[in-house]
Amino acid sequence: LSQQLHRTILKVDLAALKHNYRTYTKRVPDGCKVIVMAKASAYGSGALPVARVLEDVGADYLAVAYAEEGRELRRGGIRIPIMVLNAEAYSYPMLAEYDLEPVVHRMEQLRYAANLNLPAHIELDTGMGRLGFLASDFRALFSNYDGLDAANIGSLFTHLAASEDPAHDAYTHHQLRVFDQLYEEYRENGGAEVRRHALNSNGISRFPQAAYDMVRLGIGLYGIGDETLQMHLHPALTLTTTVTALSDRDAGQTIGYGRRGKLESSARLAVLSIGYADGLPRLAGEGRFGIRINGVLAPTVGAICMDMCTVDVTAIVDVKVGDEAIIFGPDHPIELLATAAHTIPYEILTNIGQRVHRVYV
Ligand code: PLP
Repeated sequence: LSQQLHRTILKVDLAALKHNYRTYTKRVPDGCKVIVMAKASAYGSGALPVARVLEDVGADYLAVAYAEEGRELRRGGIRIPIMVLNAEAYSYPMLAEYDLEPVVHRMEQLRYAANLNLPAHIELDTGMGRLGFLASDFRALFSNYDGLDAANIGSLFTHLAASEDPAHDAYTHHQLRVFDQLYEEYRENGGAEVRRHALNSNGISRFPQAAYDMVRLGIGLYGIGDETLQMHLHPALTLTTTVTALSDRDAGQTIGYGRRGKLESSARLAVLSIGYADGLPRLAGEGRFGIRINGVLAPTVGAICMDMCTVDVTAIVDVKVGDEAIIFGPDHPIELLATAAHTIPYEILTNIGQRVHRVYV
């Protein structure tokens, strides 16, 4: 395999995905449906192969950001319901053609959905401060809008702003209370019973009592980003590359663009076949991150280039051209790279370049 492919590979462990899926579903009450986020190419890991596994394990729903992502899944043969979070006006004909269900956060979208007979998932902004009907707009909706027929409502939901952070638990509880209150008012005004959901991955692990009828699983599927369940999850993604070249350099030499790497002492350096175009952030350069080779961390030297980077392998015995170098994986947590690059694992994953091969094992 490694001789046939460009040798930077994102390995997706499908058994780990299934394990993680089940770990989350065990946390929610029987009958609670599971929506899995397949947006942004299933967090960079490849929408279709991941969606197929999810369909196999019995996921009830998938969610994508844009209609085109849903179309790709349908064209690939995915049959379970698909929710489209950012269903823009232009995309409604596509939603209808491919049997995709829009999230709505404005009155006119509800009309488009009703006209096309698409179940609408009504988003309420209870404190995320992003998309969703604000309380007053939602009240206006259910008290004035006679098109608000339960048959047209796929679900009513909200998104938590900080479910992962205990420092914000009071705020999370507040969001859930607002959500409950609005639903109660809607019901008191004659609204029919509809499915509700609020929880993302950390919501499921930290607030399972608020599972309602459905949950929305994202990052936790990959076995990352959830401190509460970390012990029970299997990291499913491994990003590796290979050693392309080795050289011995003298003390005082500068390395790479802008001469940003300066050798204090003589060193053995390896060039690896991964650069920022593959998703290794430039912020990980200049010694701020270590890449694992033969079980040892090799710090970056100088700036990360577009297609390659340089690491110091002086401390690693027996390094050879062709050796595997692990950027992240089960034994080298992605959080280390995210921290070095001042970001979060989500951004690392969704920035993995298109030319990186996704291999499913
Ligand atoms: N629900 C919505 C509306 C989202 O936008 C997302 C992710 O961005 C999720 C759920 C899943 O979140 P997480 O990946 O943190 O589980």
